[in-house]
Amino acid sequence: VLSVASALKKLLKEFSAVTPEVVPLLQSCNRVLAGELRAPFDLPLFTNSSMDGFAVISEDVKNAGADHPIELSVIADIPAGSIAQKGVTKGQAMRIMTGAVIPSGCDAVVPIEDTNFSDQPLNGEFPWPIRINKPVKPGDYLRARGQDVLAGEVVLKAGTHLRPQEVGFLGMLGFEEVPVYRPPRVAILSTGDELVRIGSALDSGKIYDANSVMLASQIVESGGEYLDLGIAKDNQDEIYQRLESALLKQVDLIVSSAGVSVGAFDLVRRVIEEHGSISFWRVNMRPGKPLAFGKYRGIPFIGLPGNPVSAFVGFEVFVRPALEKMSGLKNSPRPAQKVKLAEEIHSDGRESYLRGIVFQKEDGMYAKLTGHQGSGNLRSLVQSNAFLIVPSEVKSLPIGTEVSAWITGVNHQADFDE
Ligand code: AMP
Ligand code: MG
Repeated sequence: VLSVASALKKLLKEFSAVTPEVVPLLQSCNRVLAGELRAPFDLPLFTNSSMDGFAVISEDVKNAGADHPIELSVIADIPAGSIAQKGVTKGQAMRIMTGAVIPSGCDAVVPIEDTNFSDQPLNGEFPWPIRINKPVKPGDYLRARGQDVLAGEVVLKAGTHLRPQEVGFLGMLGFEEVPVYRPPRVAILSTGDELVRIGSALDSGKIYDANSVMLASQIVESGGEYLDLGIAKDNQDEIYQRLESALLKQVDLIVSSAGVSVGAFDLVRRVIEEHGSISFWRVNMRPGKPLAFGKYRGIPFIGLPGNPVSAFVGFEVFVRPALEKMSGLKNSPRPAQKVKLAEEIHSDGRESYLRGIVFQKEDGMYAKLTGHQGSGNLRSLVQSNAFLIVPSEVKSLPIGTEVSAWITGVNHQADFDE
């Protein structure tokens, strides 16, 4: 039985980035940049004021102090977006707003707070006097042209995940469109005679197909698109027919749930073997040991276990990294946080992903389990905010042991009391 790490390595070898496309900037959030981008111009594009105040010649006010202010003559106003019509000479200043172009002759701005300026209406006639209470040095309260970005410089590398801040940054640089990888397309197949589509009546012995909606949501959350292949009965021909329908839709990956363990009706594996190949079908993990990877007629195939918690974990451990690689991201291990156990934990020697709650105490981060860890119990997953990872070979961990945790997101309903 393969370790999680070697199974993941084997699996990821079979994936590469999907084709790029060009999208409007506003549609680029959560996509991955498909080529490097260079700045078309400097940022800031012009030297401007970082404060509302007075543009001055610093030499003029170098001896200013609260008890000996220096008086300058204000000759104009410069709102943001306009340009002063003339320069400033010795003894003069201009009132300037944040973001406005520094007029020629000036080398610093004195913030309003360091002057005797009050918001009382002026009669609008220039010049008027202003008293400066503090000296400034050349460059003070200026944002110099090119101090953040120089024209021609690479501002974002290929493979960058575009977050709202990157979108804003590209907006600053005037990009209307950006090259990104298209979302990977994933087909989802549920299998089992007991499954019923949500919305239909539940006859006795039947259950709703929870996995397909959960997996679809995980796919969307990972930046992919899904194609629902529906529910296949435990019957080889039906499984085959539904897998065939994925081929027509040109998916990048097929993900199924259930039917890959050793039960009498675990037919998915057989169909894949008949029309493709299985690279592995068991992984040394808990939950989620029966997990198959292979190809169906050339398309990568991941067969997740049927139990919903196992399917979820299998997705997080194997499908998400595959989707990230297809989306153009460089594979990097998921960030884990070190937490201390607030309770003793038992495992069976497989690499375990236990549902837990990570919480803050004065002396650091702690974790406890969300109770009954059955792999059919989605409620324990809902109550959790993290997976606590117990390495293979380990059977019990006492209180206070440090373990790695994957934070799965803020759970505002989590019960943080001990
Ligand atoms: P199997 O791998 O087919 O033996 O399924 C293992 C368990 O997962 C069984 O209890 C199934 O009823 C359950 N199961 C399988 N598929 C789904 C699904 N799509 N939604 C909810 N539970 C499922
Ligand atoms: Mg089944």
